[in-house]
Amino acid sequence: MKMDQEQNRLDKVVSRLKQTGHRITPQRLAILEALVNGSGHPTAEEVHRKIQARFPTTSLATVYKTINLLKIEGEILELEFGDLGNRFDGHKPYPHPHMICTQCGRIVDSDLDELESLVQTLAEQSGYQVQAHRFDVFGLCPDCQKTK
Ligand code: ZN
Ligand code: MN
Repeated sequence: MKMDQEQNRLDKVVSRLKQTGHRITPQRLAILEALVNGSGHPTAEEVHRKIQARFPTTSLATVYKTINLLKIEGEILELEFGDLGNRFDGHKPYPHPHMICTQCGRIVDSDLDELESLVQTLAEQSGYQVQAHRFDVFGLCPDCQKTK
């Protein structure tokens, strides 16, 4: 995402939380920034480490509280993995394909215009009312292919 797009998304999330009566402390803003900006898929622990550089007293529980707020507001995607832990995507909170490196754990966003219509087809075929869906592709990232 470009810088101004990132700022827009962060502003949107912040005003959404303010509207629902939440106080945005400088510490919470830093957590939101770490989750919403960039294209990474950090764990809660990674976000915690990053925030501690600026706000040494921040607890991991505070990070989880902020993540939960975003979950309630539908502003974050949680990807649960066994080995890789739970990873969070606050910049694209809607379902989208992920490319996952089984060696270094890097997760990269991917786009597939056909995904929604595919899910629509599956819903019609099965009669299910879809609540969520997830498309993960596992493999070796370009960097890990080089070092193999
Ligand atoms: Zn890799
Ligand atoms: Mn993503």
